[in-house]
Amino acid sequence: MNANLYSLLAAHFPGDPHAPCLILPDGRVWTYGDIERASARMANMIVALGLKPGDRLAAQVEKTPEALVLYLASLRAGTVFLPLNPAYQRQELEHFLQDATPGLFVCRPPMRALADELAAAAGVAQVLELDDAGRGSLIDAAAPHADEFATLPREKSDLAAILYTSGTTGRSKGAMLSHGNLAHNARTLHEYWHFQTGDVLLHMLPTFHVHGLFVACHCALLNGSAMFFEPKFDAARAMNLLPQSTVMMGVPTYYVRLLLDPGFTRDTCRRMRLFISGSAPLLRETFDEFKSRTGHTILERYGMTEGGMFTSNPYDGERRGGTVGFPLPGTAIRIVGAGGTPAKTGEVGGIQVKGENVFLGYWGMPEKTREEFTADGFFKTGDMGSWDTEYYITISGRSKDLVITGGLNVYPKEIEELIDALPGVAESAVIGLPHPDFGEAVTAVVVWQKNAEGKALSEDGIIAAVKDRLANFKVPKWVYLVDELPRNAMGKVQKNLLRQEYSARPSR
Ligand code: AMP
Repeated sequence: MNANLYSLLAAHFPGDPHAPCLILPDGRVWTYGDIERASARMANMIVALGLKPGDRLAAQVEKTPEALVLYLASLRAGTVFLPLNPAYQRQELEHFLQDATPGLFVCRPPMRALADELAAAAGVAQVLELDDAGRGSLIDAAAPHADEFATLPREKSDLAAILYTSGTTGRSKGAMLSHGNLAHNARTLHEYWHFQTGDVLLHMLPTFHVHGLFVACHCALLNGSAMFFEPKFDAARAMNLLPQSTVMMGVPTYYVRLLLDPGFTRDTCRRMRLFISGSAPLLRETFDEFKSRTGHTILERYGMTEGGMFTSNPYDGERRGGTVGFPLPGTAIRIVGAGGTPAKTGEVGGIQVKGENVFLGYWGMPEKTREEFTADGFFKTGDMGSWDTEYYITISGRSKDLVITGGLNVYPKEIEELIDALPGVAESAVIGLPHPDFGEAVTAVVVWQKNAEGKALSEDGIIAAVKDRLANFKVPKWVYLVDELPRNAMGKVQKNLLRQEYSARPSR
């Protein structure tokens, strides 16, 4: 059987080739027929350029229909797609090109000179351009080719993509994802979230990341659905498009921003069936406010580059705020407590996963890959979490963010939740900073709500407010008040940056 992911998706495209696939901000529509023909032309071009199945194809481009078509063409031609965040600069690009040695690098025109230089140094044979309006030498090169292409057969274990991890800790590693990995997750999510006839997806996520490219696009394509394909999140655009949509996927920040608009109401969401959140923790406060404002219960799920989605709150059952729900069908999860034994209910431990969706390993890093898998084939996610009595999972943070103070473990989330609940606090991030006595000192970086009435609490006030609710060793030794927390493109707080910045503060 042909396990090419494109063949699976295409088998579910609507019978009518005129059915809309992508609806653009200016009203232009790409039909499913357009997608098939454009991806065929581009796949023919990839083959004509001499790329063989298994060769890498890197793209550092903005989100456009042509960029999505490039991904689909890469699947069809059997090459391994490597999407790169357009924000990456010289040093990062150099690492990706040297590490993955793609046969073709597609860049944005302003990056051309740098791309040529780095490509020559890394032995990348070809560089083409795709601009932010979907034009460029890539499109010119594909234009003369036939608009039919027999999608190449692939095995489940053949690579479809390499996604570099967002690197909030240390150097970014290339996660190898196979056609089988992606297909398994796509099918599972499509079914678990009840994708159905008539669904329209509001797509505002970037497409260089697992969330926007795989989770969102695969669900819609597998459903033959239309997507409002927006270049980025914009609350005003979302307000316009939500009344015509049924499903939205977003990072928590999107929901926070929607709630800032007093015009965002039940009526805005009258056609909506499902709001999904992930990639970073959704604050309980956002979950609750969203429900009271719109009547919708956001469905929170959890996963990562190294395997797509692992858990989800249920579609039909109770969606529990502050939790990421249950293991998805086909994904085994265990939580390993101190000493390597299974964690008891409520006990925080390391989350490990196994399933057809879990990646094959890190590109060119067999040692690292071996370290990250257990002898019986579970991947150590690096996330800490716990089960409750009904098997809902709660994430407590990354193990690397664990604070060890005086030899005792402190899970940042426990402290963050207490601080977040204080009047006037918008959010907080708890980190460990080097301390001469304790090894690390619990430190809280706190953001006030924008329109909070008077900044009620001082740094010392925050410490005093949580003091009698926490064991002494968990009480922050230092508190910093800031206007905002540093976040990466997916809304994750970059604790590594906070650690760097505050370790260097001379004031302590
Ligand atoms: P990425 O590989 O960029 O998708 O990042 C994956 C990481 O994001 C996970 O390992 C988690 O630490 C975090 N993450 C994803 N979804 C959630 C969630 N719903 N709640 C808390 N953390 C999450």
